[in-house]
Amino acid sequence: MKRVLITGAAGFLGSHLCDRFIAEGYHVIGMDNFITGDPKNLAHLKEHSYFEFIEHDVTEFVSVEGDLDYILHFASPASPIDYLKIPIQTLKVGSLGTHNLLGLAKAKKARILIASTSEVYGDPLVHPQSEDYYGNVNAIGPRGVYDEAKRFQESITMAYHRVHGLDTRIVRIFNTYGPRMRLNDGRVIPAFIGQALRGEDLTVFGDGSQTRSFCYIDDQVEGIYRLLLSDYALPVNIGNPNEITIMDFAQEIIKLTGTQQKIVYKDLPVDDPMQRQPDISLAKKILGWEPKVERAEGMQKTYDYFKSLSIDELYRANHRDFSKFNIR
Ligand code: NAD
Ligand code: UDP
Repeated sequence: MKRVLITGAAGFLGSHLCDRFIAEGYHVIGMDNFITGDPKNLAHLKEHSYFEFIEHDVTEFVSVEGDLDYILHFASPASPIDYLKIPIQTLKVGSLGTHNLLGLAKAKKARILIASTSEVYGDPLVHPQSEDYYGNVNAIGPRGVYDEAKRFQESITMAYHRVHGLDTRIVRIFNTYGPRMRLNDGRVIPAFIGQALRGEDLTVFGDGSQTRSFCYIDDQVEGIYRLLLSDYALPVNIGNPNEITIMDFAQEIIKLTGTQQKIVYKDLPVDDPMQRQPDISLAKKILGWEPKVERAEGMQKTYDYFKSLSIDELYRANHRDFSKFNIR
């Protein structure tokens, strides 16, 4: 039985990856410190004989007993609100955490896949973004803590690949959504749906002309799975090229949820990218992958998930309280 370590396992993407690898017959070791994740996302796997869990902060030395065939490093705050609140932790998990996991991969002779992001392109001056674009990132702006950590992460991963011959993969993930996103993580989909469910106005940042391209979780997991099993070591974009302005997206949510509330405008966050759309030619070519789930279908499933949450979860303080975590 192949053994895979998944960091960030209690998060949105990580928990879906655990499900996929278990379904494929792997022994899965999940690792997380719950800083932005939720044990509930893994509750259904607790008794599963193919699953074990280690509570651990990956910025500290990472030790796992036994062999490992694959490591998927997904631990990192991923929502702008989260990484603005815990900027040092975000920098550390992308840098020190990645270094620890590369070291573990080297010791175990495991293949490692690193979760990078469309944020490595910053506020892009090239559209759509293909892997050969170097990006337009403000290193010292508030988002720089995430963007630069991820750029460092790619850089050190390639260095381990070149110097130590480590078997590495890098996925550049574009905005992905679906069940198990945290309702209060501030990202636009849980934010708008949460507002609709609570009967609040929808907050559009800026004039809403900025664009995003949303990928449903099942498509994202399929792309990551194929990339891991491929022999391609350079970064690959995985996302859905179907682009929409945030204003049009807010209108779609109003229609989907039937809310009577209106749209209100808030300041555009500093360095918020004005456009984002993945060029997925490379993924199509080398993985034979492209997204299959239309936004209407994916959003309906996501809405159904958020509707099923308890009233308590729906009204829990809008943002996560990080003070209980030992953040240094
Ligand atoms: P998430 O916040 O739901 O999950 C991240 C998980 O990592 C959480 O469970 C958190 O507790 C854990 N974590 C954070 N720091 C840790 C540490 N030091 N030690 C151990 N665990 C730690 O976010 P997500 O959307 O599932 O994102 C997962 C990964 O995918 C991240 O690396 C993120 O940068 C990347 N990504 C996600 C998206 C997206 O649209 N969801 C886009 C681009 C990149
Ligand atoms: N956004 C918004 N209202 C919200 C939350 C987000 O208009 O309540 C905008 C945000 O400014 C950005 C887009 O929606 O332009 C996507 O934001 P998100 O935080 O989901 O992710 P990003 O792609 O910026 O990392």
